Amino acid sequence: MRIMDGHCDALTKLYVNPKLEFGREEQELDVSYPRLKHAGVKVQCFAIYLSDSIQQPTFEHILQMVDLFYRQIGRHPGMHVIQTTEDWHLVEASERIGAILTLEGLDALAGNMMHVRILQQLGVRSIGLTWNYANWAADGVMEPRKGGFTRKGKQMLKDLETMGIIVDVSHLSTTAFWEMVELYNKPFIASHSNAQKICPHPRNLSDEQIKAIIQCKGTIGITFVPYFVDSANLTVPISALLKHIDHVCSLGGEGQLGFGSDFDGIEQWIKGLRHVGQYENIIEALCKNYRESQVEAFLYGNWRNFMLTSLPK
Ligand SMILES: [Zn+2]
Repeated sequence: MRIMDGHCDALTKLYVNPKLEFGREEQELDVSYPRLKHAGVKVQCFAIYLSDSIQQPTFEHILQMVDLFYRQIGRHPGMHVIQTTEDWHLVEASERIGAILTLEGLDALAGNMMHVRILQQLGVRSIGLTWNYANWAADGVMEPRKGGFTRKGKQMLKDLETMGIIVDVSHLSTTAFWEMVELYNKPFIASHSNAQKICPHPRNLSDEQIKAIIQCKGTIGITFVPYFVDSANLTVPISALLKHIDHVCSLGGEGQLGFGSDFDGIEQWIKGLRHVGQYENIIEALCKNYRESQVEAFLYGNWRNFMLTSLPK
């Protein structure tokens, strides 16, 4: 079965530790070419996320990560960078795995539209507005003041809409989320967030937020971060993940959910989901609970529908 995964932080690990190689099976790398291939992942998103270890994030740091993405992932003979719907079809017609470059957090762009245009030229197709804390554009969900967008952030949001860059609300504050629903007129995504009703973590989405994403025909990437799946238990089984899927479906989101693992961005894992090569364990659990056509949609088809309407031609 084909799989698309909407979020991982492998690029950050490759950046922090230059000894790691994407093309090699590495114990430390949850997402590597051999593991993607083993799992049957057809499309993987790779986030540019500037690690906490960088004191003053700049555009130069982002460019270093773009360079790394192309050197290690884009140029791998088994990979193909997806920038357009044409690339998507090309990947589907080949044995290659598609890689989509994304940005997590506007922090280092300093409100400079030239930076955003350059990143679009370099292949960035989706932008998460914040990480957990406030930046110049908006507040993240863990920022104590719980604010929304700045004036500049609202302008940036309208510019992203015009440019056709996908907007990702994972990590965004609740206030900013609802301001965005008012301002922004295209489908948007939460690439790696679960349901608050099942696991009451601030990083998860309320039912109203889930319904808003369903209504705009966006996509919710169910994520494998154990404490976003079940905050009450230390060991989290795959069955706990299915509760989030059931819940999103019960709100009418059967066609609007996919997966966004957050592999390489986590230091604890769901039992049986230690790395991307273990997607087979989810498939097995899904097949026991859903029809084949539903399982295919959750793993790939829903993301595919969204991407083919959101990516440039
Ligand atoms: Zn994240």
